[in-house]
Amino acid sequence: MKKFKVGILGATGMVGQNYIKLLDKHLWFDVVYLAASVNSAGVTYKEAVKGRWQMNTEIPEKIKNIIVEDVANIEKASKKCDFVFSAFEISDKNLVKEIEEKYAEAGMPVVSNASANRWTNDVPMLIPEINSDHLDILASQKKNHNWSKGFIVVKPNCSLQSYLTPIHALNMAGYQVKKIMITTLQAVSGAGYPGVPSLDMIDNVVPYIGGEEEKTENEPLKILGNIKNGKFIKNTDIKISATCTRVPVTDGHLATVNILFKDKKPTKEAVINIWNNFKSIPQDLKLPFAPINPIIYTEEENRPQPKKDRSNDKGMAVTVGRLRDCKVFDYKFVALSHNTIRGAAGGGILNAELLVKKGYIK
Ligand code: NAP
Repeated sequence: MKKFKVGILGATGMVGQNYIKLLDKHLWFDVVYLAASVNSAGVTYKEAVKGRWQMNTEIPEKIKNIIVEDVANIEKASKKCDFVFSAFEISDKNLVKEIEEKYAEAGMPVVSNASANRWTNDVPMLIPEINSDHLDILASQKKNHNWSKGFIVVKPNCSLQSYLTPIHALNMAGYQVKKIMITTLQAVSGAGYPGVPSLDMIDNVVPYIGGEEEKTENEPLKILGNIKNGKFIKNTDIKISATCTRVPVTDGHLATVNILFKDKKPTKEAVINIWNNFKSIPQDLKLPFAPINPIIYTEEENRPQPKKDRSNDKGMAVTVGRLRDCKVFDYKFVALSHNTIRGAAGGGILNAELLVKKGYIK
C-alpha cells in the first residue's frame, strides 16, 4: 500500500513529539511535513527541539533535518501533505478554529487534538471504540463549507479517555449508567511543555486545572449522543460530576469513578466480564494502532498505577481495577489511560486509521 504523506502541526510540542515517535515506521503514514510557531520556523527539527525533546527514543533520522514551517503557511502544507495532524496550541481558540478550517478548505483532512472545534456542530468528536458512526456527519460538514476533499475530525480531552470506554461498554451490554462521579489525578505532561512550574508540582497536588472539569463533564454528552438532521444531539440520560487535579506523575491520567445504573445493576463478575470481552470497530477493522483489548481489568488490589500500567498495549488500552461496591452509588473503580498516547497522539493516529479504512482519507 502506498503510504499517505502526513504533516504534523505543533510538531515541536509535547503531543507533536509523541506523533513523531509513534509514527516512526507506521505502516500507512509517512511524516513529510512539520510545522510549529514562527519561533521554530525556518530551522531543522533537531534545532527547533534542542534541549526540549522529551521522548525516551532518539529523533528519527529522517525527521531530524526536516525544516520546520510556520503553521500559518497553509499553501506549502497543501503541496506536500495528504492530511495533517493538528496539535498546536494558541490561547485564542477562534484562531485555532480558523486555521484548522483553512487547512480543510485547502483540501487537507485535519485530524485534531485541539479543543477549538470540539463543539462545532458538524465536527465529530471521536473515540473510535465508541462513536465511529459519528463520521456520518462529515457529509454535512463538507456540504456546509463546500469542501471537496478537506474536513475536520477531533478527539476529545485526555481526562475522559480512562473512564468513558468502560462506561460505554456497560451501556452497550444493556446496563445504562445514569450518574457518574469522577476525580481525576492527571499527569504533568497533560499541560504540555514546559507545563506546570516545578515548584508548584514537586511535593504537591494542585486541585484545579482550568477548563478541565467542564470538558470532562460535557464532552462525553456529545460522544454518547446522536446525529439528527445533520446536527449532534447531546445525550441527556447521563449526568457527570468531575473534580480534576494535577499530580506529580509524568504520564498517565488516573481517575477514581463512582457509577449509578439507571435500573438494572449487573453483578461485579458481569461487569468485569463485559470489560474484558469488549471489542469494537477498531478491533474488527484490525487498525494498526488499535489495542487488542481496549479495556483491561487488573485483579491486583493496588493497580492500576500510572508507572506500571500506562503503557499497556502500546499505551492504547485503558486499564481498570478495584471494582467494588459503593455505599452512595452502585459501584466504584479506578481507571487509567496514557494521556499523551491514548489521550493525544495515539488517539489521533487511531482516528486517522479509521478515516483511511472507512474511505474518508483517500
Ligand atoms: P505544547 O507542548 O505547549 O506544544 C504547543 C505546540 O504549539 C508547539 O509545537 C508550539 O510551537 C505550537 N505553537 C505555539 N504557539 C503557536 C502559534 N502561535 N502558532 C502555531 N503554533 C504554535 O502543547 P501540547 O501538550 O503538545 O498540546 C498541543 C495540543 O494538544 C493542545 O491543543 C492541547 O490542548 C492538546 N492536547 C494535549 C494533550 C496532552 O496530554 N499534552 C492531550 C490531549 C490534547 P513552538 O515550539 O514553536 O512554540
